[in-house]
Amino acid sequence: MTSVIDLRSDTVTRPTPAMRAAMAAAEVGDDQFGEDPTINALQEQVAELLGKEAALWLPTGTMANQLALLTLTHPGDDVIVSRESHAVWHEAGASGANAHVQFTEAGGRGGYTRAEFLAAVKPAGHMLYPATTLAEIENTHNRAGGLVVPHEDVEAVCAAARSAGIATYMDGARLWNAAIASGRTPREVAGPVDVVSGCFSKGLGSPAGSILAGPRDVIHRALRCRRRLGGAMRQVGILAAAAQHALAHHYERLAEDHANARRMAAILAQSPRVQLDPASVQTNIIVFGLAPEGPDAAAVLEAAKARGVLAVAFGPRILRVVTHLDVTTAQCERAAEVIAEIIGG
Ligand SMILES: *Cc1c(COP(=O)(O)O)cnc(C)c1O
Repeated sequence: MTSVIDLRSDTVTRPTPAMRAAMAAAEVGDDQFGEDPTINALQEQVAELLGKEAALWLPTGTMANQLALLTLTHPGDDVIVSRESHAVWHEAGASGANAHVQFTEAGGRGGYTRAEFLAAVKPAGHMLYPATTLAEIENTHNRAGGLVVPHEDVEAVCAAARSAGIATYMDGARLWNAAIASGRTPREVAGPVDVVSGCFSKGLGSPAGSILAGPRDVIHRALRCRRRLGGAMRQVGILAAAAQHALAHHYERLAEDHANARRMAAILAQSPRVQLDPASVQTNIIVFGLAPEGPDAAAVLEAAKARGVLAVAFGPRILRVVTHLDVTTAQCERAAEVIAEIIGG
């Protein structure tokens, strides 16, 4: 145990001794023959949890996003996404390189409304327009500070998409956080969309693994695309066991991460040089701006690192901190105090 308080991401967590024990005890087989019993059980469990017909385990959430595009669009199509979505910013251009689609960003911070969606839709069969064939909703929204997309917006967008023959996909890497924060079940959060993904390696604390869930035919196509991308693995039951352990033991406690983030936001917002509305912090991510009269993001990060606190920059004057399983409330408070002191004012 080091004294560094690492708030760069909720992906930095290490598997607990109990999770490691569950992994070591996992029954495994060759998943490419469909013979890994633990993966099979996890896929069934999560399909049920998300209210979809079938589910497919994947090594990463980025691959889940790619498989959604590869199964629900064709090259040259248009995909409507929320502004600053993970697919646009954090996937090394994968969507253009793999699925050959273009993105149209819609809405303001985090989500988009039915009206904003309809304004961005390009009809199929037009001589000039790329056909909009997919609406993607990121929930919670990372760069918008862990924002929970209003459920009414998800429902309204999906209803409009369905009547226009447009598929819907939720990048639910942190869907679990959205569920906990909104008091809904994962099945309710994912209810309106055709296809949904979720990560086990974020707040749930597994070392790796994501899931894609949806109609059986889509998941069947995704299985072949997973192989094509090199993501078909073998005795992955050890990772499925970690995911099962995470769902059983680390799900409800996400509320603690949310409470820690709110505490941090309250401390940070005391500095007049921090641009943050504490009321906007709904889950475990805080994205905040730095006023021009104070130090910039690089300077704050360097000074914080020297004092044992790690965060990341999302822009020259934008910082992100993320709370998770491996940081205590006291550590979160301490980190917020250190960062606020460095920012000064
Ligand atoms: C983390 C994340 C992903 C997937 O990331 P991987 O590192 O590839 O597992 C996808 N979408 C969002 C919103 C994320 O935060």
